Amino acid sequence: MSDPERIPGGPTGDVRGPSGGDNALEFRDPEKADALARRAEELVADIDADEVSIMHVCGSHEQSIAKFGLRSMLPDELDLRMGPGCPVCVTDMPEVDEAVALANAGLTIVTYGDMLHVPGTSLSLSDARDAGADVQVVYSAAEAAEIAEETDNHVVFFATGFETTAAPTAAVIRDDPPENFWVLSAHKYVPPAMEVVAAMPDTDVDGFLAAGNAATITGWGLFEELVEETDTPITVGGFEPLDILAGLVALLRDIRDREVTVRNAYPRCVTEQGNEPAQEQLWEVFTTESGEWRGIAHIPDANLILRDEYAHVDAREKFDIDTASLAASGSSLIDDCICGDIMAGREDPTDCEMFGEECTPEDPVGACMVSSEGTCKIWHEYGGRPDL
Ligand code: SF4
Ligand code: SF4
Repeated sequence: MSDPERIPGGPTGDVRGPSGGDNALEFRDPEKADALARRAEELVADIDADEVSIMHVCGSHEQSIAKFGLRSMLPDELDLRMGPGCPVCVTDMPEVDEAVALANAGLTIVTYGDMLHVPGTSLSLSDARDAGADVQVVYSAAEAAEIAEETDNHVVFFATGFETTAAPTAAVIRDDPPENFWVLSAHKYVPPAMEVVAAMPDTDVDGFLAAGNAATITGWGLFEELVEETDTPITVGGFEPLDILAGLVALLRDIRDREVTVRNAYPRCVTEQGNEPAQEQLWEVFTTESGEWRGIAHIPDANLILRDEYAHVDAREKFDIDTASLAASGSSLIDDCICGDIMAGREDPTDCEMFGEECTPEDPVGACMVSSEGTCKIWHEYGGRPDL
């Protein structure tokens, strides 16, 4: 990797180091943001292409981009696309069906709040709760285990999210949870999905802005291999406006210079190695297998499942999960939902005919309208336009 260019307003010195040089960021400073936007404009002009496409891989990036109107500061030729960055959105319908089936069978299901309204084939967990099932919301895996301690019923933690939430789930599993505590894992592992999306012929990505939160666990070093495999530069980015703009500037410079490398524009949180104890926990408890990411693709080695040594807490091993009755009566609207294309960077939410009509945050058809990190919901919240 060559020395990173000094990014005005962004981290200075070796942007890959933990301290980030003088690190004098005021993360929302409008003057620094303007300077970065101007730099982005110069770089895009240097690249001299009709369009430069950068994909971010995190719903929290989309939230900041929409909330702070970053697209409107950037040149028209820079196409900032969403990628498969929201754990709620990529949880597959059959996985939701499994949780609903267990809830309907009388077990206590605990999960993160956004998962409640994600439609399964015919029902969401919230529908099951309305019909009398015991479905509870938690903020952490540890809280899920605490609920099990306080009841005699079987408690199943419907565990969703990427590396960032999978590591705490692993910690709870290792820590001798109550005997009535089970895990239904829908955890996903991001890097293989980036590889698949980058290789899709109609997803034209010149650079990836990788998710800073997941990278706090895995470290930026993990992306070295991915950069080689995808032949696409990657910069790890944080979530404040200047973090994102600095990350984009770093990427644009690499695209201009045809430099295919990894950079870290989030050095105050992300190191090369990441959080090694968390990684050890994660890989001690979980292994990967191929599986569906909702609407996007069947992705090799990107679903996190419990290893055989931890089968004693695996809800899929313990219970006979019968989803057949749920599969029969799906909504035909779901067939027209284009979440998959949005997550693969091929379409925008406003390209969906149901956006803001049949599909709203109050009455979502697809997963992207449910999650606070879902692009459809974010665009709906900020007026349906990406450049507010
Ligand atoms: S607007 Fe609704 S139906 Fe359309 S893609 Fe988004 S979530 Fe799916
Ligand atoms: S809404 Fe869709 S595109 Fe946006 S982060 Fe979630 S999955 Fe990705």
